[in-house]
Amino acid sequence: MVENIKSYDFKFLSPKNLMNATYKAVNNFQIRTIFEAKEDILNQGKYSEKELCNFLDSMIDAETARKFILEKLKGKKPSTLEEIIKNFNFPPENTIRDIIYLREQGFIEELREIKIEKQIINEELVEIKKDIYRYQVREITDHFQEHFFCSASLIYDSGFCCQCGFCQTICPLDAIKITDEFLEVDDGKCINCCLCFSVCPQSFSFEQAYNQIKKLDSSLKFSEQIGYFKDLYTAKTTNYLIHKLGQDGGAVTSLLYYLLENKLVDAVVAVSNSEDRWKPETVIVENVKDLYKTAGTNYAYVPILKILGKTKKYKNIAIVGLPCKIKALTKGNLFANKLPFYENIKYKIGLFCMESFTCDNLIKLIEEKFDKDINEIIKMNIKKSKFIITLKSGEELSMPLYDFLDYARDVCSYCEDLTAEHADISVGGIGSRAGWSSLIIRTEKGQEIFDGAINTKLIESQKLKYFKLGLYLIEKIAKIKKSKYIPIKLMIT
Ligand SMILES: Cc1cc2nc3c(=O)[nH]c(=O)nc-3n(C[C@H](O)[C@H](O)[C@H](O)COP(=O)(O)OP(=O)(O)OC[C@H]3O[C@@H](n4cnc5c(N)ncnc54)[C@H](O)[C@@H]3O)c2cc1C
Repeated sequence: MVENIKSYDFKFLSPKNLMNATYKAVNNFQIRTIFEAKEDILNQGKYSEKELCNFLDSMIDAETARKFILEKLKGKKPSTLEEIIKNFNFPPENTIRDIIYLREQGFIEELREIKIEKQIINEELVEIKKDIYRYQVREITDHFQEHFFCSASLIYDSGFCCQCGFCQTICPLDAIKITDEFLEVDDGKCINCCLCFSVCPQSFSFEQAYNQIKKLDSSLKFSEQIGYFKDLYTAKTTNYLIHKLGQDGGAVTSLLYYLLENKLVDAVVAVSNSEDRWKPETVIVENVKDLYKTAGTNYAYVPILKILGKTKKYKNIAIVGLPCKIKALTKGNLFANKLPFYENIKYKIGLFCMESFTCDNLIKLIEEKFDKDINEIIKMNIKKSKFIITLKSGEELSMPLYDFLDYARDVCSYCEDLTAEHADISVGGIGSRAGWSSLIIRTEKGQEIFDGAINTKLIESQKLKYFKLGLYLIEKIAKIKKSKYIPIKLMIT
């Protein structure tokens, strides 16, 4: 993951440059707002004094670096991110992140050029289009206005909120309330620090920054459709009960089992089915026995990240989430980093997701298309372009996938990520045989969990490349999701 936004070392700056940059940095609206509301924030009790100070320190450092970067790039010709990072002694990942942030603030302009490259593929000469991005400092005129960020209500009111719940967790004054149906900002409590906007996966894109940072790691492979990865496997659990309860190969539950059993984490955040079976509920699981209740897929949506406020007491946790949740966590670590609700998240297991549903829409679909009560169902699954339900009686009924998609949440059209590209390890059914899961190992940590589960014989696996059409199918479906993606355009006034 992009977890390693490193500390800045300002030793190479002259005292004058450092003073200038720091002086400008402390005028950043977010830093000022949070600093001025310090007493209220501490009284609210969500951030401890130490956490707030660490967080403010990291913001001031990042903003000092940004002001210095701006000063140095002023008047220079447009340059690519690769060229820019060479000019600074800051950690490259920090500089990449800071350039993207400055673009969002309006200080830096992004220029896009489409370059056509000729390549020989399968003995044929093909033309490949490549986007080249260059950055230059805008000329600041009297009319220049920094893009101040907004509150999460703008995202919600514009219909873009994916209800991940992270804004509720990080809001220092607890002004945001989010459910699987609505988001509300209490204007009386809100201090307009716009942290919620900074971390929101739907507010502005950080993909370029993320991909450029990943590119620094030459051990990773890259696919246009599924992002950066280390390796691909198909796997299934060796535990009979997990296999029975699991959605595909029971790989996710087995990986979580390995983490808890071997005390690599103290708790796991996952989703379990509540009393009324298909109403998903976010749960914190501390022991392996309770993991069985979380196995299986519920296509209904739940804002799981709002539970993070309750996980601070754990030293290390793992979290299972859909691509939008994993994206929110990754963005939260980039803008701004050192959030106290992030520090203990050690492993992120992402699920493939074409789309999700509200619980009400899922109930409606089952009634309208199958004339059944949702409580008669024991399993829902998607296979071979069909949505399949299994009834308690054992009977299986199906419908074409495209009819099923009519009931999906509209907001899923604003997501281009099928395979949870920002996770440590991503898991889905596409690409594997029935009863097996496809695994995309993306990071060292992902590799560590996978190797551990293999070595302790919790899962068995094969390289996906030995399985006919495995990667081809995943890339094909991922491409469909990307082609349907509608980019978000926010009207910030
Ligand atoms: C809304 C949704 C859409 C999906 N769409 C696709 C798809 O298009 N293509 C594809 O290949 N795979 C999709 N998946 C993933 C797939 O259904 C399986 O979860 C995945 O293959 C892992 O299977 P498993 O047997 O290894 O997991 P299991 O061992 O059964 O574990 C499943 C894990 O998923 C978690 N979970 C269940 N429901 C939710 C939920 N609503 N939100 C967050 N976490 C949840 C559980 O807590 C559990 O930890 C989707 C999953 C969801 C939740």
